[in-house]
Amino acid sequence: MRKQIAAANWKMNLTFQQGEQLLNNILAAPTTLKENQLVIFSVPFPYLTMAQQKLNGKKNMFVAAQNCFNKKNGAYTGEVSIEMLQSIGIEYVVLGHSERREYFNENNQFISEKINICLENNITPIFCCGEPLQIRETNTQNEFVGKQLTESLFHLSPEQILKTIIAYEPIWAIGTGKTASNQQAQEMHAFIRQQIAIKYGNAIANEISILYGGSVKANNAKEIFSETDVDGGLVGGASLIANDFVTIINALK
Ligand code: PEP
Repeated sequence: MRKQIAAANWKMNLTFQQGEQLLNNILAAPTTLKENQLVIFSVPFPYLTMAQQKLNGKKNMFVAAQNCFNKKNGAYTGEVSIEMLQSIGIEYVVLGHSERREYFNENNQFISEKINICLENNITPIFCCGEPLQIRETNTQNEFVGKQLTESLFHLSPEQILKTIIAYEPIWAIGTGKTASNQQAQEMHAFIRQQIAIKYGNAIANEISILYGGSVKANNAKEIFSETDVDGGLVGGASLIANDFVTIINALK
């Protein structure tokens, strides 16, 4: 049974103290996590250890880094390696977020190298894909996302792809308050699952969690998550508000 996941993406927000307070508030609220449901907090690098300590002993709750570099170690000032993350017990890393692609020129090839280094070191990548508005307007989103999958993921072995989480995030819906309709989300998730099935077979495709990201809020999460191929969400803005994120966690199916 594939995992249903509520993943918070704090991006470059909150001070250390605000982050601590947010986690305290979320953890104090009643959440009802089933065996197949996970919560992942993707926090800034300086807060990773603090977040891990807060989640210590909490079943099905994990901390993720928001990025890592594609090299093992060396003279790359300012970068963070997978070995560093592993050495503090991190198990998940968000890769290929559209903000990394846009502001730091990350391309499919570079992201695939980061995915490789994660999987080689037993860390689960949360691979983000999704089209910009002009692609959606020309109705070529399947080709666009298909290419992202082919160039960054489809070189993986079946065992490796099974360890990967995918987040479909239409760029026009990120931080804009404009959510994809349920139908748009379901269509793309089904397309992604179908591409995985063509490459790796149905059994594997059915095991991979595909999250939706793009203005998931407390008042729309349940509806979006109810779609057959939507296995939860990657949540930016609403993950910074304790009550809202708790509602989103409780909306998982
Ligand atoms: C994101 O950070 O990946 C995201 C989807 O942000 P938001 O929920 O704010 O649109």
